[in-house]
Amino acid sequence: MRRIPPETIEQIAAANDIVEVIGSYFPLRRAGSTYKALCPFHQEKSPSFTVNPQRQIFKCFGCGAGGSVFRFVQDYEKVDFMSAVRKLADRAGIRIVEEELSPEDSAKVDMRRRLLAIHADAAEFFQQQLFRAKSAHVAREYLKKRGLTADIARAWKIGYAPDAWDALGSFLRQQGYKHDEIVTSGLVSTREDSDEYYDRFRNRVMFSICNDTGEVIAFSGRILAADAKAAKYVNSPETPIFTKGDVLFGLHRSKRALIEKKSAIVCEGQI
Ligand code: ZN
Repeated sequence: MRRIPPETIEQIAAANDIVEVIGSYFPLRRAGSTYKALCPFHQEKSPSFTVNPQRQIFKCFGCGAGGSVFRFVQDYEKVDFMSAVRKLADRAGIRIVEEELSPEDSAKVDMRRRLLAIHADAAEFFQQQLFRAKSAHVAREYLKKRGLTADIARAWKIGYAPDAWDALGSFLRQQGYKHDEIVTSGLVSTREDSDEYYDRFRNRVMFSICNDTGEVIAFSGRILAADAKAAKYVNSPETPIFTKGDVLFGLHRSKRALIEKKSAIVCEGQI
């Protein structure tokens, strides 16, 4: 569907020296014509992880991991090939121009990009509200009671949705988002008989839900007011960037440890 021209991939590889890239993750020690380190992919006491600057490859003689600079980023960051290519293109300041996108496909890619931007801005908005808005004092009290400090709130992008029908909506319009983008984001609800919309999340503590690379793709809002009719939690609906069954909360912060320990403790709820 999407295609990055092979010349661009070669250009990206050439612009990302493997010693520099791996050396930016952990220190490498020079050993003759190669570099060595303790292998990040298996437990060991003496270094068998080798980086060869001439051949621009890495190789572990302990566990067999090895390959190009793209392979390293894929394995270390646990991302797919395209994400690794993009990361390294960004690092080298190379612009990727994709080929052979049908109009439908480019519309999809474009919408996805806009939805991610909306969610990043919304997370920022909710966070600003939590820290600055007078009306957020109940939310701040709640978080305090649950032992969640300001640092934790910042690290986990926890925020507050004000008790208003058009707070986030009007903020998003001010940021220049279009009507259909805002509606598709699911952060607003539409009225049945018109295309008007109102904020889906009101007077709630907002938990950002991220994909495994740490991008905000949805929210879960916990109720603050005692209201028997309202749901305790309201979640984002499914959107082009959010499929409920595909997401595990907190995975972007725990995936490396999960892989290293080969085990996981799964809990219900965000906190
Ligand atoms: Zn290894």
